[in-house]
Amino acid sequence: MRNIEAAKKEQTTGEVWRAIDLVCDRWVNLIMHSIFVGQRRFADLLKYTGMARSLLASRLKRMEEFGLIFRRPYQDKPVRYDYRLTDMGRDLFDVSMMIVRWEKLWHDDAKNPVLRSSHTLCGKVFTAECRCSECGEIVTGRDVKVVLGTSRREGAPAQRGSDFRRSKIKSSSLETMVPMLERSMEIWGDAWSVNVISAAFCGIDRFSAFEEALDIAPNILTDRLNRLVDLGILERRKYQERPDRKSYHITRKGHDLYPVILMLMKWESNWLTDGRKSGPRLIHTVCGRRFTPIATCSECHEPIIGREVKLGVPPSNRAGKTKARRP
Ligand SMILES: [Zn+2]
Ligand SMILES: [Zn+2]
Repeated sequence: MRNIEAAKKEQTTGEVWRAIDLVCDRWVNLIMHSIFVGQRRFADLLKYTGMARSLLASRLKRMEEFGLIFRRPYQDKPVRYDYRLTDMGRDLFDVSMMIVRWEKLWHDDAKNPVLRSSHTLCGKVFTAECRCSECGEIVTGRDVKVVLGTSRREGAPAQRGSDFRRSKIKSSSLETMVPMLERSMEIWGDAWSVNVISAAFCGIDRFSAFEEALDIAPNILTDRLNRLVDLGILERRKYQERPDRKSYHITRKGHDLYPVILMLMKWESNWLTDGRKSGPRLIHTVCGRRFTPIATCSECHEPIIGREVKLGVPPSNRAGKTKARRP
């Protein structure tokens, strides 16, 4: 709690909040994911995401203005562009990999399988891991101390643009095109949900404390807490009778979301705050050092970078025959 309290006293940075609103917008998330998996042209994005043309165009424009993507001509007469990630956009790859990791841990089933990706460096199908940059060990929520929380929004939450207000997801399009993302969108497509989870990770567990720390309207908070309980991310525990009072705690499923929060924090401090100076400081209690979370491969434990990840199972694995990779 102290972290958020400290952050509240910090000078608020509107830019960080604009970024969280943008990055945690369900459609932006979906577009980013589509570009990561190789959809670059407008027509392909339209098909892959199932979004309405005008909605896709407006989100792409906003993402371009913010600096997540840029346009590159691939044809003259008539001139046509495709969409590429900037360094800032590409850096969200780690966030995306951690979302896929969580999906694999909690929602992978035969009927609705999570996308498989392979690591070209080791040639194996992998799951992303989150490791400490200093000692190389796997990082979990239980062994991280956040010295300073994220900065808080300026102004009342009710004044957010209506465009970004939570709207009921048109799940039919998502179901057909990218089923695996649907559950994640419930969480990551909404900036308030992300903030409620972040606050819970900082030790906040009571309604009034969430309200104060996040400067969130009670009706919005109630809605997000209920939703996170329904999703199995938080659980209610009674801490007082007459009147009944309940506190909110992170479940095991919720704890597995921690790497996503860590990667979002890393992205934020890389691009939106004055780097390591004003960003939150993360201490890995296992080694006692200040660290940066690193996304690594579950098979070879090397850091993963976008161009070394291919969607799908590598041909050698699929056919059941193994190709000699090393002498
Ligand atoms: Zn460490
Ligand atoms: Zn690997």
